[in-house]
Amino acid sequence: MGEQAFAKVVESDAVIIDSDEAETIRRIVTRLEGPAAELSGRQIDWDVVLLNDSTPNAFALPNGNIAVHTGILPATGLDAGLAAVIGHEMAHVIARHPEERMTQAELARVGQLTASIFVGSSPESQSLIYALLGLGSEFGVLRPFSRVHESEADRIGLILMARACFDPRAAPKVWERMARISKGLPEILSTHPGHGTRFAELTRLLPDAIGERDSAGCEPLPSSAGS
Ligand SMILES: [Zn+2]
Repeated sequence: MGEQAFAKVVESDAVIIDSDEAETIRRIVTRLEGPAAELSGRQIDWDVVLLNDSTPNAFALPNGNIAVHTGILPATGLDAGLAAVIGHEMAHVIARHPEERMTQAELARVGQLTASIFVGSSPESQSLIYALLGLGSEFGVLRPFSRVHESEADRIGLILMARACFDPRAAPKVWERMARISKGLPEILSTHPGHGTRFAELTRLLPDAIGERDSAGCEPLPSSAGS
């Protein structure tokens, strides 16, 4: 079901295939794949697409399909910050969060919806569908992941990016910028819980992440953090 829905998204005009950003995303995923396989102990078929959508969002399906909206790029930049967001989404999949949040009733409902899914793909219906699919929507209007899942994804994502030799210091900065961007959004989106808390937690985890990075044999970090 999830795969079918994702295929519909991928076929839609919103997918950007040929751009520097899309190319960068594919490169980042390639770097994160090894650490992800190590950490999850299973083979996940990662497929990450860039969607032309101004909402600052990203989401993950249980099977390893991940989508990144162009609207999140101002908060991430195109290097370590973007790796932080992609690593975070991969972490949701590794930790099996998308499956956990779906009830039997929702599974049934999704089954009914899949046929007509993106027929009238207004942003509202897409959000509804994402939510019903349990697509780990970072700014899910209806049902964002729980704080516990978010913290876990932040922690695992940080390890992934560190082991892939990205600068983990970029991760808390993403959420700092996200907080600023969210201020301009409708209230329902900006009430998503605690960017400040995430910033603090990620900052606290940095020494461990830098240790992971050193153990992976990466080049030493520059003295000041990049984006
Ligand atoms: Zn998340």
